[in-house]
Formats: sequence, C-alpha cells, structure tokens
Amino acid sequence: MKLNFLGACREVGRSAIFAETSDTGIMLDCGINLGGEEKEERYPYIPDEVMEKLDTVVISHAHLDHSGYLPHLYARGWRGNVYTTKPTRDLMQLLLADYLNIARENDRAEFTMQDLNNLMRDIEYIEYGEKIQLPNSNHTKITLHKAGHILGAALTRIEDEKEEKSLLYTGDFSYRPTNILEPSQTDIEPFDALITESTYGGKKDNLPGLKKKSQQLAKEVKKTVQKGGKVIIPSFGVGRAQELMITLDNYMQSGFIPNTQAYIDGMIKKANSIHRQNVIHMKEEIPKRILMAQENPFDPEYFNPPKTKDRSDVTDNNEPGIILTTSGMLTGGPVIQYLKKLGHDPNNKIILVGYQVEGTPGRALQEGANTIELPKRNGEKEEIEINAKVKTLHFSAHSDREEILEYISNLPRPEKVYLVHGEEKKTKNMSKELEKRNYETYVPKQKQEHQF
Ligand SMILES: [Zn+2]
Ligand SMILES: [Zn+2]
Repeated sequence: MKLNFLGACREVGRSAIFAETSDTGIMLDCGINLGGEEKEERYPYIPDEVMEKLDTVVISHAHLDHSGYLPHLYARGWRGNVYTTKPTRDLMQLLLADYLNIARENDRAEFTMQDLNNLMRDIEYIEYGEKIQLPNSNHTKITLHKAGHILGAALTRIEDEKEEKSLLYTGDFSYRPTNILEPSQTDIEPFDALITESTYGGKKDNLPGLKKKSQQLAKEVKKTVQKGGKVIIPSFGVGRAQELMITLDNYMQSGFIPNTQAYIDGMIKKANSIHRQNVIHMKEEIPKRILMAQENPFDPEYFNPPKTKDRSDVTDNNEPGIILTTSGMLTGGPVIQYLKKLGHDPNNKIILVGYQVEGTPGRALQEGANTIELPKRNGEKEEIEINAKVKTLHFSAHSDREEILEYISNLPRPEKVYLVHGEEKKTKNMSKELEKRNYETYVPKQKQEHQF
C-alpha cells in the first residue's frame, strides 16, 4: 500500500492522506486548516495526479479540519464514492453549509451550493463494524470503528486482500469516555500500519479527567456569575458544545451554579437536534435515559438561544449570564459579536475549552494577548481590547499523551506507526516515546510518500 501525506503533517488541520492499494485510490479525510490565511497553508496539497487516481473518500468525522476541503474537490470536477457514518453525514451537512455561508460573507467562497448538494447526494453511510467492498475494486475493503471524539467519529481500517496489507487510520479519537460517547474501540482486526493523530502527544500533555475538568469548569463559571459577570465559552458547535452544555446544565440543576440566564448560539441548537436524532450511536445510557425518563439531554432545561436577532437581550444588561457559542477558536460566528460587546469588561470571563490552532485569535488570547484581531463581515480585521479574564480549561475531545500510548498498546500491534495531526514538537516527542517501546515510527512531512 502506498501512502501520500497531503496535510496535517507536523500541524493540526487540513487532514488528508491518499492511500493507494493494488486496485483503487482512497483519500482518508479531506480537511482545511482554519488557522491558515493563504491557500498554501489553508488547504491540503492535492495535485491533479492524485485527483485522477482518486475513487473513494472516507471521512473520519465532521469537523472541518477533516471534511472542509471535500466540496472543493467537487468544485474541481471530481465525483466519486464518499463514505462515512450517518451522524457524520448529518453533521457535515450543517458544518459545510455554515462554512460556505461564512466564506460567501467574506467573498472567498470557492465552491457553490450545487457542489455541496452533489457531495451530499454522493455520500453513502455505513454502520460501525460493517465491512464494505469498495466499488471499482476487487480486493480493497474498508471498515469503520468507533473513535469516541465526537458523535459519528470513526477509525478507518483499509484492507488490500491481494497485497495482503492493511492499515488503520485513527482520525481524531478519544480513549476516554465522555458524557455521551464510549471511548475509541480496540477490538479491531490486526493491521500492518497505524496512522494516528497526536494532538496532545507532547511531553507535558496530561489532561485532567472528565470529572475533574467538569468541576473546574463549574467553579470558574460560578465565580464569575456570583459576582454578576458574564461567562463566554467559545466552543466547537459540534461535539464539545453538547458535552459542555450537558455538564453545565447538570451543575445548574444541582444548584452548584446559581440559577443564571444561559444561552446557546451559533449552530449549537441545530447540532443538538442532530444529536437527538442519532442517540443510538452514543453510550447506551443516553438512549435509555431518553426512553425511560423521557428527558432529552439535548434540549436542556437552562440553555436557550437569544431572543433578539442582534443579541441585545443577552449583551445589553448588567445581569450575570453564561454564553456558549461558536466558534471555538474565535475565527468567526456569533462569538465575535459577544467579544466586541463584552470583552472589554474585567468582570466578565472568557473560558477557552479546546485546542487553539496557531494563528487563530483564540491562540493569541490563550498566550496572553490584550488585544486581538477579529474578522469583520467584509473580510477585513478589527482590533479589539480584551480586559475580561481569560481562562483555559482543556475540555478536550482528544486523548492525552498517556491515553494515546495506552490506546496504541491495547490495539493489535502494527509494524509501522505514522504520526500526524499534531504540532511538530509534540509529534516528534510522541514518536521518540514510541521508538523506546520498539515501534517503527514516522513523522511524515507534507507531500511525503511512503510504501509499506
Ligand atoms: Zn475533530
Ligand atoms: Zn482534527
């Protein structure tokens, strides 16, 4: 099997790996880099030669760093087979339409609604564990397995029966259970090579467990609302937002966080309904809770969308409040408006909960910047001052260093391990650790090819 690493090499973002088997060409993920300004930084490197050999795209999960470039392939004239899970297809529809809208507002749309519709029509969804013989191929099969991370996320196993070679690609995975998902699966047929993400593979990347970080979050929120301030929690609309919402709602129900106006904004509400429609793909207790207790965790008691279009009912008062809104790295979405109105007030607090890609306003804020550049509607930037307190709590949907290592050791042992989707230093460090444990590892550079 021949691998060509086209993105997410020594960086987080624009995941895309081209795998060539004896009789077909498969793209594993096809994402964009949200932190990238220029096309060379923003998009994966997909030359026409790869497009010609490309029959099938498999999408690991809906996040744009894994799915965002796919409609661009359609704009470039590609048509083919696209496989993923059903929840990922549903979430992709939401995220890609939002991506197109924002791109249009900034005059930088590079695909059309028609391209997106063609893509959505081509997507076929497969069940976890179901082995599929790829069309236009006699020897290549794929299987998807549960990856944790977000609803619908999948590990992809490719098998070439003729060459007798197989590969497991993790996409983004979480080997820790979350509020709604089981951890990534380990009972998988053996494989020769593993391609794994390494977002939190750095030496010091030990993230607190779910319980501890939930308590930290609740305490931080409580501190601010008790003093009458507002808490802004920028979040990915899909996955993390639902986990945070459920956590905070529970703390409010229990009375630990005083009864406060709480808002969800951006695509979170729509993502909530997609979660509700796909509960069978979650931890067993979630569908049970809905069936038995008739309660829907995706329609929480305390969180509501703003009542006015300009959001003045949320911002123009001196009441405490909790605002859970997109986007997680402050690259667009309603969070921009909230920061412009509320960011200058030292009584307020911004809690960053996820990984902040280099080059994003979120990363700047995390590193202590007092002013940040936020996008305006016309594509220009506006500098704003932030006096609100800034707190980072890694409420991550990824595995941390120990969990990545533990997960790899609990999988069938591969001959080779390729590390992607991590900053260079962290990925190299993880590679060193794996070498100590006698794995043959590679940290590919973009455009690098490798045969196994
Ligand atoms: Zn992801
Ligand atoms: Zn990712």
